[in-house]
Amino acid sequence: MRRVAPVAAFLFLFVCSASADTIVLKNGRRIVASNVVDDGEHVSYETSAGRFSLPKSIVARVERDNFGSFGSASHSEPPVSAPQVEPVRGYEDVAQLAVHDNLIDYGYIAKLETEARSGSQAATQKVSAAHYVAAQFLLQKGEVNQAIDQYRQALVFAPENLPLLLNLSVLYLRQSQFKAALDPLEHARRFSPDSPDVAKLMGWAYYGANNMDQAVVEWKRAEKIRPDAEVEQALEKAQRDKAEEDSYREGETAHFALKYYGGAAPELARGILHLLEDDFRQLESDLDYTPPDPIAVILYTEQGFADITRAPSWAGAINDGRIRIPVQGLTGPTPELARVLKHELTHSFVGQKSHGRAPTWLQEGLAQWMEGRRSAGSAGVLVDGIGQSEPPRLESLEGSWMSLSGGVAGFAYAYSLAAVEAIIQNGGMSDVSRLLDRLATSPSTEAAMQESLRIDYADLDQQTMAYLRKEYVR
Ligand SMILES: [Zn+2]
Repeated sequence: MRRVAPVAAFLFLFVCSASADTIVLKNGRRIVASNVVDDGEHVSYETSAGRFSLPKSIVARVERDNFGSFGSASHSEPPVSAPQVEPVRGYEDVAQLAVHDNLIDYGYIAKLETEARSGSQAATQKVSAAHYVAAQFLLQKGEVNQAIDQYRQALVFAPENLPLLLNLSVLYLRQSQFKAALDPLEHARRFSPDSPDVAKLMGWAYYGANNMDQAVVEWKRAEKIRPDAEVEQALEKAQRDKAEEDSYREGETAHFALKYYGGAAPELARGILHLLEDDFRQLESDLDYTPPDPIAVILYTEQGFADITRAPSWAGAINDGRIRIPVQGLTGPTPELARVLKHELTHSFVGQKSHGRAPTWLQEGLAQWMEGRRSAGSAGVLVDGIGQSEPPRLESLEGSWMSLSGGVAGFAYAYSLAAVEAIIQNGGMSDVSRLLDRLATSPSTEAAMQESLRIDYADLDQQTMAYLRKEYVR
């Protein structure tokens, strides 16, 4: 993440109370942000570094978290509805005995199971109906996993009961467990190959798993067996998404998997890969670490992401596990783009070497240092500001900066850079490398600092201020 505004003024830390939403990407990554807007094609959002936007096709859902309350997640609509299947028709008497007085009668169900072991068709139907009713009862109470258990127990006695298999897969689909949902559906297809419901739900499972090719195949199959307006609509949407994904072009090097929209110039992509490979070798030797898997880099020409011709500060680049960079209007790498790449790639190295446990001040301080920033411009403001009030504390900059206001974030970036500069000045880059290793295993940041640098937070704050005074302030 990169800051937009330069350090304008020294401000003390406070946390603003704007509500935070979580954008969940289809690859599982989560981005905490505010003012999330979904216009159907893009999801745009705000962080302390500015306003960004993502193509809707990579977003799984947005979880709204109003005023910090939990459990108010709103999931995106499923692509198709669940088929109406009722395994209990004709077994209403069983249903009434299996659940009564707001309780599941497990004794009664056990009795039915004993009878069903004799293998009679009627007894098997009864036990299926009883487990189905118990599952519905548990679902009403929000006990999804227990409901799944009920279906599984019923399927022991009636492995080829199509309604049970369909209902079980719908439970998984509603929880976004797309792989688990495919199991009962594949089983159902073996003995019921022409079921339109099986094809419809398989389409949902593949669509949810972002496998557009297979989703299209299944929904076409469903349409052929039983035309259905809803499936037709879902099929059209999947075909649109597939076309969009096909329009990505790909470039692959030893360490990077680059994706870009067809509109981006191939020379730009080649130039970017070249810069990234150079940065990779440099970071590998500086930090004594090699990321095991290729790092994903995505170039966007999307208008909504950031119009870089009007935003030369490159505020739009983000690293959410993949490096995402807006490159609209560029035909080749520029010095500013080179800084952005080094900054974002540093985040990937730091995140992986520390097993995701590096505090934000170290992440942002080191990323700025690696891109070539130094504290000369901000030292005066930092030292003056601190002279007037209580000293700043790095410890308060460990967690997410998403809720910091622009001015406070500006201070946070500047002070973090100064702290990293001071560490490198004192012990060299090998100190940073050792600190990252310790972070991966230590119980806290401060414990990792003590093990690797032999200082605590108070020492580091002091060391940083002393460094700024000595180095920059006369
Ligand atoms: Zn950053």
